[in-house]
Amino acid sequence: MSVKDPAPRSETVLQGISASQGIAYGQVFVYIQSDLEVPEYEVEERLWAAEVVRFEEALMVTRKQVQKIMNEVERNLGEDEARIFDAHLLVLEDQALITETLREFENTRRNIDSCFNGVARRYIAAFEQIDDEYLRERGGDIRDVSQRVLANLLGHTAQRLSKLVEKRIVVANDISPSDAASLDRSAALGIVTDSGSKTSHAVIVARSMKIPAVVGLRTLTAKVQAGDSILVDGYEGVVILNPTETTLFRYGQIQRQKRTHEQRLMEANSLPSVTLDGVALTLRANVEYADESALVREYHADGVGLFRTEFLYLGSDRMPTEEEQYASYRQLVQALAPMPVTIRTLDIGGDKPISSHAHLFPKEENPFLGYRAIRFCLDNPDVFKVQLRAILRASAHGTVLLMYPMISGRDEMRRANAVLEVCKTELSAEGKAFDAKLRVGSMIEIPSAAMTADLLALECDFFSVGTNDLIQYLLAIDRVNDRIAHLYEPTHPAVLRTLRHVVVEAHRAKIKVSVCGEMAGEPIFTALLFGLGVDELSMTPPMIPAARYILRNMKMTDAKKLAQAAMAMDSPSEIHALCAKFAEERLGF
Ligand code: PEP
Ligand code: MG
Repeated sequence: MSVKDPAPRSETVLQGISASQGIAYGQVFVYIQSDLEVPEYEVEERLWAAEVVRFEEALMVTRKQVQKIMNEVERNLGEDEARIFDAHLLVLEDQALITETLREFENTRRNIDSCFNGVARRYIAAFEQIDDEYLRERGGDIRDVSQRVLANLLGHTAQRLSKLVEKRIVVANDISPSDAASLDRSAALGIVTDSGSKTSHAVIVARSMKIPAVVGLRTLTAKVQAGDSILVDGYEGVVILNPTETTLFRYGQIQRQKRTHEQRLMEANSLPSVTLDGVALTLRANVEYADESALVREYHADGVGLFRTEFLYLGSDRMPTEEEQYASYRQLVQALAPMPVTIRTLDIGGDKPISSHAHLFPKEENPFLGYRAIRFCLDNPDVFKVQLRAILRASAHGTVLLMYPMISGRDEMRRANAVLEVCKTELSAEGKAFDAKLRVGSMIEIPSAAMTADLLALECDFFSVGTNDLIQYLLAIDRVNDRIAHLYEPTHPAVLRTLRHVVVEAHRAKIKVSVCGEMAGEPIFTALLFGLGVDELSMTPPMIPAARYILRNMKMTDAKKLAQAAMAMDSPSEIHALCAKFAEERLGF
């Protein structure tokens, strides 16, 4: 009987949600983000001794790995930082953990991996209950190290997105913001995920890195196999598994056509942002990393309208110090001076928990309605003050604007500003420089803030509307739930009316309004937003050329008419179609 070659895998076309434009083709790298699955089985008597040796070896290998990381950290960051891993080494030496695992093995004769997993989990649970912060953190250390030991016992090499060796399309059930923060930017050709939506943070990062991405594919990770090739069409939200030669040829043509369009947009991108009837408008950049000033300049942004500082925290396994943050903010501020850099204080929690500080973010039923952003900061003034001091100090080196995320109303704004005042007083006493006229604003992301914009404006120098969250809260649509992503409608009349209300109240108080959510970067909404009276748009830099092209080919009077017409309509899809037609006519392709 002859053994047949496995049948070639046939082409499969899957529809997801377009998340970051572009076309990519390559081999898959499947990344499953979850705790390791530990099998459980009985060990035969003749293997008992070998099982213990296997455990000792795994501990030894893990020790070597941790030591290696420690050395790398010491070389790159310094001795103090490397000391964090002392705790990990201590866990590996912990006699109680080791003896208990061996005792469990003697009693049950079940595989050592499952014995170790059971003991480690009991320890972690016990530590998580402790009231003392330091001891609770040790629970996190045990979790980290035990995952490493288990990976070694199970023969897994720990998969890290930061360690992609060859260029690959990353296929994942989900990508956490911290994975996104450590993603090897040069090796990820494309990103495809089972879950997620257009405004999930990993997607926002992909967009700013110009990595094509499609999300919301539900079961893709179960369908792909190592060695599969995959084509990602980030324009249409399509993913093609094992595409045929004909498909690849067709996509080659589409890609050439898209490149020609992009080239046309780029050619006009260094020209002023002025409408046909002479109105100058402002387009700023959203950035996630302090080293993105080149990108801001490449796309001719008028400075930064949103610097999401949480990536500094997510990319590290500890809270960054004041000096580290100061260096980071100063880098961006100095590189772009005198253009403004709008630094947003820490927006952590929600879909961005800090895994290294899990104890500060206990699991919540409704994380997006929970302990996040300014709520976390006001509750943890020590963490908040470190950041405010760093931002204030950076303000001495250029033009800095400061804003707080998730403000719900005037009272919260006052409380945040009170902490800021304390920091200013401290810095003055220490003789450290900062911009005394630093402008401070509020993000408008919560309906209560929008509804009370008149009151909030009394405490603010500007508003910046975060439509990603504002839409989720207005329409009660979880921004990262792919099942209801089709109901996430930026053109819902409730969204338009809220935006208009915020603009009217801000202008009455003589302050400016920026929009920095993903809606601002969608070319079909450029005219609508400016027509509604928004003063500035801030977006991921690669989206700027299309916005600039549209505004340079429109009259402001027409944009106002478009907004008026949209405000009079009641159907989100019809408003969407009206805006799309307006944009297509200006783009001309
Ligand atoms: C927003 O909510 O629109 C926003 C800009 O903030 P983030 O996406 O970081 O929550
Ligand atoms: Mg937000």
